Amino acid sequence: MKVASVLIPLPVSEAFDYEVPEGLDLMRGDQVAVPLGPRLMRGVVSEVRETTGSNRRLKPIDHALDEPRLPERTVDFVEWAARWTLSPPGEMAAAALKGLRAPRPRPERRVRLVGERAPVRPTAARTAVLDTLGERAMSGAELARAAGVSSGVVKGLLDEGVLEVIVVEAVAAFDPPRPDHAPAALNPDQAAAADAIAAATQAGGFAPFLLDGVTGSGKTEAYLEAAARTLQADPTAQILILLPEIALTQALIARITARFGAAPAEWHSGIAPPRRRQVWEAVAAGRCNIVVGARSALFLPYVDLRLLVVDEEHDGSFKQEEGLVYHGRDLAVARARIEGATVVLASATPSLETLWNARSGRYGWLKLDARHGAARLPDIALLDLRTCPPDPQTWLSQPLREAIGETFARGEQTLLFLNRRGYAPVVLCRACGHRMTAPDTDSWLVEHRYTGRLVCHLTGFTMARPRLCPACGVADTLVSVGPGVERVEEEVRQLFPEARTAVFSSDTVPDGKSARALIQRMAEGGIDILVATQAAAKGHNFPLLTLVGVVDADLGLRGGDLRAAERTFQLLTQATGRAGRADRPGRAILQTWTPEHPVLLALAAGDRDAFVAAEMAEREAASLPPFGRLAALILSGENAVAVEKLARDLAGSIPNAERLEVYGPADAPLGLVRGRRRKRLLVRADRDVDLQGFLRAWLARVKVPGSVRLSVDVDPYSFL
Ligand SMILES: [Zn+2]
Repeated sequence: MKVASVLIPLPVSEAFDYEVPEGLDLMRGDQVAVPLGPRLMRGVVSEVRETTGSNRRLKPIDHALDEPRLPERTVDFVEWAARWTLSPPGEMAAAALKGLRAPRPRPERRVRLVGERAPVRPTAARTAVLDTLGERAMSGAELARAAGVSSGVVKGLLDEGVLEVIVVEAVAAFDPPRPDHAPAALNPDQAAAADAIAAATQAGGFAPFLLDGVTGSGKTEAYLEAAARTLQADPTAQILILLPEIALTQALIARITARFGAAPAEWHSGIAPPRRRQVWEAVAAGRCNIVVGARSALFLPYVDLRLLVVDEEHDGSFKQEEGLVYHGRDLAVARARIEGATVVLASATPSLETLWNARSGRYGWLKLDARHGAARLPDIALLDLRTCPPDPQTWLSQPLREAIGETFARGEQTLLFLNRRGYAPVVLCRACGHRMTAPDTDSWLVEHRYTGRLVCHLTGFTMARPRLCPACGVADTLVSVGPGVERVEEEVRQLFPEARTAVFSSDTVPDGKSARALIQRMAEGGIDILVATQAAAKGHNFPLLTLVGVVDADLGLRGGDLRAAERTFQLLTQATGRAGRADRPGRAILQTWTPEHPVLLALAAGDRDAFVAAEMAEREAASLPPFGRLAALILSGENAVAVEKLARDLAGSIPNAERLEVYGPADAPLGLVRGRRRKRLLVRADRDVDLQGFLRAWLARVKVPGSVRLSVDVDPYSFL
């Protein structure tokens, strides 16, 4: 009897076995429908084997689905990713099938010429239609528009039998990219980097690189040139470029289209499901060469993946925290290893993990030193707020105000950077000291003045700003404490009423379209002073921008998690790197209460090496990543007693292990979210310890009750 193991999207740790009916020829990667209780479910075959005399009776597979087979290496990747992240393999497999959820687009009606027939009355309009159409088949509306005639003209030709309607399946065509369409002129650093990457893709085999260059050094041109040469050598090669934010995709797609004379496929949650299905099928059939996408594009069924690029590899947005918990950058490296492909991690401020891999020789290290177009890096000044504090209830100190005024007077742009959405981060009662919090979550409500509401940024809970304090009942005692971007913009408008100001945050630009519109307005000089959260610190090019003011450079340093200093350094480097491109020198002013902090000193000196050396030394002393590894267990549930009991059970059943410590259980910093109590345990291990093996052995010893959710986060980025 033949037995197939089938990965089904359920929270279970193994594939289910089914009998393969006579005459059904299955292979690893095939999609099947299998019975589960009363239902049929979609699954992926992970293994087919011959057994003799099983004593278990297995249910038979219902039928094979008429869908493309997942390539062998895609299944390898899914299984590896599930083991690495301790996720259910069936749910990982479901991530690889996500594109198939939508129905196929409906077949389309097109018109085409019938043989050699000529119209009875060849009017100018009719001739235009026939000339426009030629040998092609087009939709009637599209044809009328292209020919510049009314739809009645096309209809007349159809009625007369000169044209006919055919029904065709809507297959998305991805024009093949043309490697020699519009090559960029590269400087010697860029050319050397492109050479190294292209040589690796052509040699084949796993080859990881760090592409390391400051903002404006031309990393994109370098990796696109390598992509072009990869395609030149192998026209069937597939190339994946991952970006941390959907907002950045349009700009890259425009550049790729200009470079290759053909648009790449786009893949992220903002793409409509029918379109996603078309992309999925084109990738599976090898009809699509270049994909630009978010981290989920890693799970597409590539048939000939030769090059992966992770742009802005340091960005924390690559870590997915909801549902399947994984780091897109780390999985990209794993996928490249499994595919025998080249992977390029690009950044101006690489993560310490990646720098460590580059330093130790595991990754090739490609450095772009010259700033493209010979623009200089901005001068960075620390402004000590102890010597020049802003006036009460304002946030911009006198020297920063003057700098904004001078910049505005020269007709140049200012970016004021504050990584805080809304108007004020805290609202409290001046009579009793009560802080406004969400009813079911341990987080302070943030005031949004544009909408007049108090918002929990964690869960999205909102309420109107009350007139009476909910604790003491006194009226008009609530005050807004501290600044958010909306409040800084209010101050700017009062100081410079004639300047054109705007706010860039996820509240004012909720989708890709509005983000593009605001970025374009800024790029064209339609905004004088832009107040922005970190969303604007990434990857945009504003030629008239010459001043960046960081309102609160200390903000990230107060967080107190593993990567707080690193993240602050990256964010501020990105923010200040925006100033002064092309021919205009830029400057950056950082307001701080702690100008002696090593992160800020390194930043002001433009000395990344000094920062990295100091931070690496601290991590090494504590055996923290990249010198050790971490994993977090997060327990949550509405029943506090059950959560508490599971935490005790876990603490009481830790397997013996060396060079590994378990901390906790402790209440999570966010001890209550959406009414669920949360507890955490943290594991630290030396690098050579089998951390996943330890976790599996540990979790096998406890029973998790249905009322408690236990999630495992390998290499955690959030410590809340
Ligand atoms: Zn009160």
